[in-house]
Amino acid sequence: MSDKTILVLGGGVGGLVASNVLKDKLGDLARVKLLERKKRFQFPPSYPWLMLGMRRPDQVQKDLSLLRKKGIEVVNYEVQSIDVENRLVKTKEDGLPFDYLIIALGAEYSSESVPGFKEHAHHIYDLDSAIRFKEAVERFEGGTIAIGISRTPFKCPAAPYEVALLLDDYYAKKGMRDKVKFEFFTPEGIPVPAVGPEIGSKVLEFLKSKGINYHPKLKVIEIREEEVRFEGGETISYDLLFCVPPHRAPRPVTEAGLTDGTGWIPVNPETLETKHKGVYAVGDVASIPTPKGYMPFLPKAGVFAHGQAGVVANNIAVEIKGRGKVRAWDGHGSCFLEVGHGESAFVKGRFLAEPKPEIEFHMPSRIWHMQKVLFEKYWMHHWF
Ligand SMILES: Cc1cc2nc3c(=O)[nH]c(=O)nc-3n(C[C@H](O)[C@H](O)[C@H](O)COP(=O)(O)OP(=O)(O)OC[C@H]3O[C@@H](n4cnc5c(N)ncnc54)[C@H](O)[C@@H]3O)c2cc1C
Repeated sequence: MSDKTILVLGGGVGGLVASNVLKDKLGDLARVKLLERKKRFQFPPSYPWLMLGMRRPDQVQKDLSLLRKKGIEVVNYEVQSIDVENRLVKTKEDGLPFDYLIIALGAEYSSESVPGFKEHAHHIYDLDSAIRFKEAVERFEGGTIAIGISRTPFKCPAAPYEVALLLDDYYAKKGMRDKVKFEFFTPEGIPVPAVGPEIGSKVLEFLKSKGINYHPKLKVIEIREEEVRFEGGETISYDLLFCVPPHRAPRPVTEAGLTDGTGWIPVNPETLETKHKGVYAVGDVASIPTPKGYMPFLPKAGVFAHGQAGVVANNIAVEIKGRGKVRAWDGHGSCFLEVGHGESAFVKGRFLAEPKPEIEFHMPSRIWHMQKVLFEKYWMHHWF
């Protein structure tokens, strides 16, 4: 065992990949500690299926303690503070020193910043909320469902569109589609702007073909019982409301002075290193500018967290072992868009390509839906 300790903060997508790859490459050459407040890994890409009763909560979670048999030290505490100068992370129990730090704490939600959000809005951005929304979807007997996005950036830019298309299909199968009106609102100018206007207009066509009304460039200022109010005075009435909550970086990260004006941690796009040597940030908590892209920053998605964590873990292992090939992250990402009828569309691309992102769109088919099912199976088994 070497005397090096690599501390991974957050046992979500990025932290799970980073700790696995590190242990796999380093074995006894370093201590790999994973610090996560929850006992179980949860898989958000399955929440749209859970919302429709197609998955049970136990099918989208896995015990993080299983990682201990690989030699990963799982510590189930809340991160209280990160001291990069003294290379120490504190929980309420302990101070954990590190030689290398990988911050994969994701995003947290600031629902309180939109008055009325907590009281009236449903969402599927965490497991408990997804379970509550499923119950509301089952109870719903007809009327207007408003589906929207409160603020950008938010994780998985396709998810709210997927929610709208899947609910359309769900109520059609229940024989009550004619009793449901859908209103979709967003501060964005087009759907999923990070993948460009051509793909955005295809998603818009999907919504229109299902009779889902689309209201772009609307910023929510308040949610009242049965009414969403927007800057500019517009309102949308609803009987059931789904709204993506506002996102922000977790408190220990901002308090450590790691964030910049974006509210997220700036990193070197190829190495994911922060301004502090040996301190990396991957996934949703990081901000990566995309000056040649369709949006100023890379969207937040698990596929990026996965790729980035693999690169960081590889490069730390190369440094500790003194041999192997250093890798650069290339901005590769892909995403499914479930559209109902057992079909999914698929987008993939290189988001940091020059002179502009190279992004492919594949029309909905059963094959892509099957690929998403396999993707879920891979995540629930491969890393444990
Ligand atoms: C409904 C939905 C569908 C999605 N679908 C897709 C998809 O199809 N494809 C895709 O690529 N992405 C998808 N995403 C996005 C994806 O889940 C996230 O982008 C991804 O999980 C980010 O990984 P991460 O490691 O950065 O953060 P996370 O996976 O969120 O992990 C962060 C971890 O840090 C822990 N944590 C936070 N603060 C503390 C603290 N103070 N102390 C201890 N632990 C802490 C959290 O408990 C969490 O486990 C979806 C997201 C949602 C909500």
